[in-house]
Amino acid sequence: MAHDVTFIPGDGTGPELAEATRRVLEATGVAFNWDRREAGVDEYERSGNPFPDETLDSIRRNGIGIKGPTTTPVGSGFRSVNVLLRKELDLYACIRPCKAYEGVRTRFPETDIVIVRENTEDLYAGIEFEKDSDEALRLTDFIEGLEGGARIREHSGISIKPISVFGSERIVRAAFDYAKENGRGKVTAAHKANIMKYSDGLFLEVARKVAEDYPEIEFEDRIIDNLCNQLVSRPEEYDVIVLPNLYGDIVSDLGAGMIGGLGLAPGANIGTEAAMFEATHGSAPKYKGLNRVNPTALMLSGVLMLRHLHERDAADSLEAAIASVIKQGEKVTYDLKPTRDDPTAVGTSEFAGAVIEEMNA
Ligand code: NAD
Repeated sequence: MAHDVTFIPGDGTGPELAEATRRVLEATGVAFNWDRREAGVDEYERSGNPFPDETLDSIRRNGIGIKGPTTTPVGSGFRSVNVLLRKELDLYACIRPCKAYEGVRTRFPETDIVIVRENTEDLYAGIEFEKDSDEALRLTDFIEGLEGGARIREHSGISIKPISVFGSERIVRAAFDYAKENGRGKVTAAHKANIMKYSDGLFLEVARKVAEDYPEIEFEDRIIDNLCNQLVSRPEEYDVIVLPNLYGDIVSDLGAGMIGGLGLAPGANIGTEAAMFEATHGSAPKYKGLNRVNPTALMLSGVLMLRHLHERDAADSLEAAIASVIKQGEKVTYDLKPTRDDPTAVGTSEFAGAVIEEMNA
């Protein structure tokens, strides 16, 4: 039976990356009914709305989508499509595998980690008070009056960091479930519980409790600064890493750097209602329409989608084909060549062709 999937090309280089990804997904032999919907800056210019209701309704209906990147113009007044998606569909878990494929130039060839980032709370909850605003001044007085409170220095901006039992429990469970379903042996929870006892401390306490429900999977915790140090000195010791929002954001980019760059880092945003698969990188607008950028990140997001759909053989075969094309190093995009102006680099579409050829070989 064909899978109904919402297909959002996005803008900038999004449409060319999405097209390359659609081709390789279809070449696996899995059948899809693509429900093509628009979002992003081109749609904004066309209709005045970067994220039409039909797009959201389609994802709600299908429960699954794959998306090219979308631009968020600075100071345009329109909100990020990605933030809206996460909020509207409560996509609380961001899953980012970071695996160094053979043939990619990286100092961390042993890297094979999966970052599971909480997406909805922490310092990204958007609870902020501007310096010298009435609210900031009232909050300052209120906090000073509390038992255990303190005087916040004058002219301070204030951001609140809420971490809940509910939010921590569901993200840690998502990490353990991912580990279980994907044959991973260990989950590491990262935090700064020694300093932030009641937010990160709570995250750690909940993580320890959840870990008891998964005795077959090893559990450990690391203080976030130590984790960063160890990731670049002994990456092979890490497997699945679960983190609150801010640390997860930073460590995701660290992971992308460790495996050779943004062009290779896939992602999934998973919620209770729906799952959305997309690359970690943005719309790289300066390359728009040039058929140059690397579609690997979105293709590997497609691999994650296939696994989510329980199409494991197709997922393994597509991942193996991508890995093989990268390892051969011939029909790859400029970012995977020894120098960026290498004349033998192929385009986005030719890379997809090479992956399809490899799958059919
Ligand atoms: P970006 O990821 O688009 O690009 C930064 C640089 O990374 C590019 O100039 C390019 O050199 C390189 N790069 C990125 N993707 C690549 C690929 N597939 N192959 C080869 N090289 C690649 O980051 P940015 O320039 O900061 O953001 C551009 C826009 O994208 C912004 O409007 C931002 O808000 C948006 N954005 C969207 C998403 C998303 O849709 N999920 C994520 C991040 C940023």
